[in-house]
Amino acid sequence: MDSTDLGLNTQLAHFGEDEKVLGAVVPPIFQSSLFVFDTYEDFCSGIYERPEGPPYHYSRIGNPSVHVAEKKIAQIEGTDGCKLCSTGQAAITLAIMSSVQKGAHVVAVGTCYGPTRYLLEEYLPKFGVTATFVTGLSTEEIFEAIRPETSMVYLESPSSIIFRLQEIEIIAKHCREKGITTMIDNTYCTPVFCNPAKLGIDIVLHSATKFMGGHSDLTAGAICTNSARIEKLIRSEINLLGSLLAPFPAWLLTRGLRTLGIRMQRHQQTGNIVASWLEGQPQVERIFHVGLESYPQRELFLRQMRGSTSLFTFEPKCQEKAKIAAFANRLQLYQIGVSWGGFESLVVPLEMKPDDWTESRWLIRFFCGLEEPEDLIADIEQALVELD
Ligand SMILES: *Cc1c(COP(=O)(O)O)cnc(C)c1O
Repeated sequence: MDSTDLGLNTQLAHFGEDEKVLGAVVPPIFQSSLFVFDTYEDFCSGIYERPEGPPYHYSRIGNPSVHVAEKKIAQIEGTDGCKLCSTGQAAITLAIMSSVQKGAHVVAVGTCYGPTRYLLEEYLPKFGVTATFVTGLSTEEIFEAIRPETSMVYLESPSSIIFRLQEIEIIAKHCREKGITTMIDNTYCTPVFCNPAKLGIDIVLHSATKFMGGHSDLTAGAICTNSARIEKLIRSEINLLGSLLAPFPAWLLTRGLRTLGIRMQRHQQTGNIVASWLEGQPQVERIFHVGLESYPQRELFLRQMRGSTSLFTFEPKCQEKAKIAAFANRLQLYQIGVSWGGFESLVVPLEMKPDDWTESRWLIRFFCGLEEPEDLIADIEQALVELD
């Protein structure tokens, strides 16, 4: 069977798992730092001909348990390959470092994930790399920010907290013509709802800690790209910075990936039910949720994404920090905490001021887990009195 003809959930259940070890239906955890060879000739071919394996030689570069998850992710993302790192941020930092030189300039979406912005704004200038931040709301704004020395355009669609989308295909085409590397953080969508590489993006990044893992029991990050870039990453950043994912979290990640498709559908349904209800509540000023019909970039959403999730933010009319804290404290099913993408619902109030806002605003971000939507609505309803 040609695996590319199979549906997403079929691929997620089977792909990358053909090799059965002693008949075990689940691939074992290869908890081994190194791999040995019968002969020195085999050993040489292991090291010099295939950096990734099989044959495997050293778990800083590649490991069979890690490779199962890497093959599954590359298959559903539609890239030649994938390398997994110990966290999403490690994957992002490695990939960015692989694509910039001294004196390079980067154009990036300003509302990208906080630590990524810190890397571009505060850390990389130490090495002579500078960045211009854009809202990403129009392609013209991005193209105008590009300079002769721009070597990378960094996207995150939808972006963190306020979920702004970018026109992926048009931006990728323009950058390719100019020889500029394009990179995108695809953590929100996962390969289930968008495949940016198929729209022309060079490097697709994921925090696999979120939906891909799906059970809040691991941290991991994915770099999905073509063979030449994978090869280069293995020889430099992965080899040098030493943050390949370890076998056990990779095995857990494979377990999470098998149910990614069905979990994403469930998150989509729950997110739309809860956000639509919340939109009608008097305490709410506005909701940032790409799945709502009222979403300002609705047309682009429908054109570019196959679905939305249960991660959204609302701006309460009440902007008093103490009342917002009381609201969060009163919630029972939504636990207070960072991250998202697991089985459990989460809430986090945060103050935010994107570059193009005149003042900072208190926002409340919800992640709806796998609980029943009506229970989640009832929970929010009983807590909303704190925001009256
Ligand atoms: C969480 C997150 C990251 C960082 O991933 P970690 O696994 O926490 O290092 C990057 N981008 C986005 C959009 C995220 O939500």
